Parts: sequence; structure tokens; C-alpha cells
Amino acid sequence: MSKKIEEFMGKISERNPGEAEFHQAVREVAESVMPFLEKNPKYLKARIMERIAEPERVIMFRVPWADDRGEIHVNRGYRIEMNSAIGPYKGGLRFHPTVNLGILKFLAFEQVFKNSLTTLPMGGGKGGSDFDPKRKSDNEVMRFCQSFMTELAGHIGPDTDVPAGDIGVGSREIGFLFGQYKKIRNEFTGVLTGKGIGWGGSLIRPEATGYGTVYFAREMLETKGESIEGKICVVSGSGNVAQYTVEKLLELGARPVTLSDSNGYIYDKRGLNKEKLEFVKKIKNVKRGRIKEYAKEYDCEYFDSAKGNRPWEIKCEIAFPSATQNEIHEKDARHLIKNGCICVSEGANMPTTPKAIEIFKKAKILYGPGKAANAGGVAVSGLEMSQNTQRISWDREEVDKKLEEIMVKIHNTCLKYGKEGKFINYVKGANIGGFVKVADAMLDQGLV
Ligand code: NDP
Repeated sequence: MSKKIEEFMGKISERNPGEAEFHQAVREVAESVMPFLEKNPKYLKARIMERIAEPERVIMFRVPWADDRGEIHVNRGYRIEMNSAIGPYKGGLRFHPTVNLGILKFLAFEQVFKNSLTTLPMGGGKGGSDFDPKRKSDNEVMRFCQSFMTELAGHIGPDTDVPAGDIGVGSREIGFLFGQYKKIRNEFTGVLTGKGIGWGGSLIRPEATGYGTVYFAREMLETKGESIEGKICVVSGSGNVAQYTVEKLLELGARPVTLSDSNGYIYDKRGLNKEKLEFVKKIKNVKRGRIKEYAKEYDCEYFDSAKGNRPWEIKCEIAFPSATQNEIHEKDARHLIKNGCICVSEGANMPTTPKAIEIFKKAKILYGPGKAANAGGVAVSGLEMSQNTQRISWDREEVDKKLEEIMVKIHNTCLKYGKEGKFINYVKGANIGGFVKVADAMLDQGLV
């Protein structure tokens, strides 16, 4: 089997040179799915793995914009339309200086399986730009978003491709993008999700990824007769996913003790609480400041990331990586295990390196990969699309209940495909569970 996987991966690397994150994401799926294909040769014959790893379409474009001093900048925009077998392309937009084709292809690839797991009719896509919204004025961000959407508008639509937010794209950016789409197309449609509540957004969409990741952790813990209540949790990041992870943890009686950004992390031994979380939301969402300000305000420890410090060195029972890809390395995984961590629920996409995943698997802890654990965000995006189509809006409780139900279903799918004796291999469960529905639809629809 390993020879077949290596052969397959050899071709992937040759066809997609220099795209390390994309290779990493494809390999993880190939390792889970290829043994399953051997037992189900219809997928092999139809070359589903080769087809699923090739985007249906890649759009790359120039995004020129002028800053407040009138100086001109040129960024690059992308949209990867990965797979539309089970619904319109769906997936976020990321604005971050590290964005490149390989990173967006990895994210789009992951999205295909994640969206399938939600049980909702959504294909997979991802997009973004190497534009950095940090230290830009609102007007600069608006001009960039307008220029970006001027090109993108020709490729997306409520039945074609429905982007949402991701790193660097929050409610402000979605607003500017939506406004420009509406102006260009003269249409008020659900072309983006994560919209404002007054203009087509869904309640619970901002909360969905973080809440969902905690619901998924709760389901995992229940398989061991454990609960979230009272558990010490480390959380990385301090953006959308991290904030609402902390919010749900507090509601369920857990004790979150860290948050981070790209400069460092805070360690609040006493634990965050509602008031402290409101302060974080203010510094991050309104002032667009740094997490270091928290340490000053609440007199707690702060560790600089330039000195190699990471939240994973703090003693905890559950870890919620919620910042970015490859943020948990081998050494971090060892720290976590040594300190008694029993569960990792990934809010971020692919935050754990393959070697670190091996350490978690060997230690047989509960490890929920992002494509299952963080699927709550796109699930509520799917619910936002349904509400837009019907021109209705559900209340908070209804959406939260639906989100919870979807996370339970995703967990059940992982159990169905990932049980190995007493151990649950969530990576295998999520990969095969996500694969089957898309692969069957591809078989039904012929060679397109
Ligand atoms: P935000 O932009 O709201 O927050 C990102 C956070 O992560 C910030 O604290 C940021 O710090 C930190 N961060 C970003 N890049 C790096 C880096 N290279 N090194 C260290 N820290 C970094 O993004 P989200 O919260 O929306 O997204 C976080 C993760 O969750 C991503 O992996 C995303 O793909 C994933 N995700 C998000 C979903 C959503 O609904 N938003 C859905 C599913 C997954 P700083 O401010 O210093 O950059």
C-alpha cells in the first residue's frame, strides 16, 4: 500500500511543484482513503483520487489599489474552484501576506471533504489574496475589497460559488465585498456568507466555527466518559475562531487560560471570563490591536513568539489550535502529551504537522482534525444560504441547535469510518466519511 501511496504522491508533487501545504493535505487524505479504495475498486477505476486532487478551475488575477497617500499597490487575487460534485463551490477568502497558490489549494482541497461531512449540499472552494489588512485604514481596506471583487464578481454567484471569511476577512471585509458585488451585478443575492444580520446574514455565523469546535470536543470526550466542565484549555489565536471557542468553553464551565497572535501569547492562570473576553473582542475586532494588551490589563504572563514560545508548553487537558496551519510541531505535541493533554480539537485548518499527528495517534489521545472539528463555520454558512434562498431568518436558538446537531452527525460519521477497536481514528473517519459522498456523486455525474 505504501508503494501505491508514494507513486500517487510522486505524481502530485510533480504536477504541483513547490506547493508543500497542498502535498501535505493530499497525502493525509491519500493515506486514509487509498486502503479503502482497494476494497472499493469502482473508485479506483474511475480515478476518483486523481480527479479529486485536481481543481476544477483556478482563477488568478491582478488586484491594483491606491493607499490613502495615493500610492499604488498591486496584489494577487485567487479563487480555487476545487469540486462542485455535491453543490456550488463554497469556502472562505483569506487575506494574509503568506497567501499563495499552494496554501489556497490545500485549503480548497480540505474544504471539499469538510463540506461533505456537514451533510449539506456544498462543493469546495477557497480564495483570497496576499494583501495584508493589518495597519490599513478602513478606506484602504474598502478600496482593496472593491478592486478584488471587481474581478471576482464575474466568477461567483449564489448557485455557482459562494465565498465567506477566513483569516483577515471578517464582517468589515465581507461588507465591502458584498457592496461591490451588488453594485456590479445589480443583484441582491446570497453570494457571500458571513453577511451582517441586517442584510441577509445568519445569527450564530460569527460564533459557528468556535462553538462547533467545542461541541466536537464534547462529543469526543463523551466517548471516554469525560466532560468539558472544569477542564483547563489552551487556545491559540485571538481572532474569530479563538474568541468564540473561548465563549463556548466558558458557557460549558471549562477554564481557557491562553490566547495568542503572531507576536506572542498570554497565559492567564486564573482563566479567562466573560468580561476578559469582551476586552479581547474590543482589542481585536474594534481597535485591531495586539493580544499583549491583555497581559497589561489583567496583569498576567505574556510570552514572545520570536523567542520560540508557544501556548502548547502550558499544562492543559484540552488544546484548541485556532490560529493557522502547521502551528503544532513535534516538540509541541510532546509537550502537550507530557503535560496530560487528552484531547485536541482543531479550530484552525491543518494546524498540526504530520509528525505531530503521529505523536497524538501513538499516545491514543482524542485528536479531532480540522475538517471535522471546525466544520461548524461552513455548516452555518450553508444554513445562511438556505435562509437567503427562502428569504427568512431563523432565531439564535434554532441555528445553534442545528449547528449542534450537525456537529453530532459529523462525529457519528467519524465513528462509522474511523473505529479501530477501542481507538477512534478521527483522521481516517473524517477523510473516508467526507470522501464517499463526493466520490459517489462524481461517479453518478460521469467524466466531467
Ligand atoms: P482571524 O483572522 O480572525 O484570526 C486569526 C488569528 O490567528 C489571529 O490571532 C492571528 O494573529 C493568528 N495568526 C494568523 N496567521 C498566523 C501566523 N502565520 N502565525 C501566528 N498566528 C497567526 O482568522 P480566523 O479566526 O477566522 O481563522 C483562524 C483559523 O481557523 C484559520 O486556520 C482558518 O482557516 C480556520 N477556520 C476559520 C473559519 C471561520 O469561520 N472563520 C472556519 C474554519 C476554519 P495576528 O492578528 O497576529 O495575525
